[in-house]
Amino acid sequence: MSASRIIVAGSLNADLTIYTERLPSPGETLHGHGFAVNPGGKSANQAVSAAKLGGAVTLLGAVGQDANGEMLLASTSSAGVDVSSVKRVAEPTGVAVISVDARGENSIIISAGANATLSPADMAPALFEGAGVVCLCLEVPLETVQAAAQAGHDAGATVLLNLSPYAPITTELAQLTDVLLVNSHEASEFLGGFAMPAADAPVDEWRGAIEKFAGRGLNKVLVTLGAAGSLVLDSTNSAAPVVRIAPTQVNAVDTTGAGDAFTGGVAARLAAGDTLVAAARYASVAAALATTKKGTQAAYATAAELSSAE
Ligand code: ATP
Repeated sequence: MSASRIIVAGSLNADLTIYTERLPSPGETLHGHGFAVNPGGKSANQAVSAAKLGGAVTLLGAVGQDANGEMLLASTSSAGVDVSSVKRVAEPTGVAVISVDARGENSIIISAGANATLSPADMAPALFEGAGVVCLCLEVPLETVQAAAQAGHDAGATVLLNLSPYAPITTELAQLTDVLLVNSHEASEFLGGFAMPAADAPVDEWRGAIEKFAGRGLNKVLVTLGAAGSLVLDSTNSAAPVVRIAPTQVNAVDTTGAGDAFTGGVAARLAAGDTLVAAARYASVAAALATTKKGTQAAYATAAELSSAE
């Protein structure tokens, strides 16, 4: 079976990162070192991950008419992503200003810039025709995410929603979502402060969370647990409502963007016809490999690298 097209609709950001011994206090100026400008933005990262893993990916987004916009179009298209529907606007390209201290702790300020101009009108149903998977996150306006989810749903695609950075969503968006991707913190916020079980809690302890998600219209949820792996929660599978996916053991040097590598991997494998559990297992290996190199898009594994690592 040939893989179906993946539409990733959402954000592109330039990550402006500076490394310092410690993070500055308010009003304080520090000397940093090792300034870097790298391609980022959750949707751009997810699109690159899916394309490197063999997916046929189209990115819908917005960048400015500036050098950061050029850099982002170059990095995504060189990974094989179709960027012909990424619009160029007068606003500056979105940026994330990131400070990283010697312990790896970071503080991040995002300026949405061009991402804030991505509108429901940019999610024309014709763009979604023939799509098998639609992949969304919350770094662009919520009404745009909802329009993309509706267009994907109407086209018969599987709609993936990465609930990050966390924001409350409408009941309609929840109902248009086929697979929710969350880390444990986002899951707890979405469920109104529900106490999530510990990462290593027995599978039975997750049944309460499954019921809560199902009550919000979400039957299939992937919960990522960082170095502890991930879980597939599926209230429609009474034989195995919880499947634990053990982490791939690696020597992690930078976990930034591991969640996006995971989401892109799930999108690529669902588009290729895998079950949700098989897709999550594959994505888990891709995300682990992404932590073994510094950076995000450049650190993501290709399908060939992944098969030689398995
Ligand atoms: P981010 O927002 O930084 O991208 P996230 O919170 O969305 O991260 P995580 O749960 O940290 O996502 O990581 C996603 C997946 O990456 C995990 O479910 C796991 O499969 C893999 N992963 C992350 N860290 C490690 C690690 N140290 N070793 C192995 N796998 C890891």
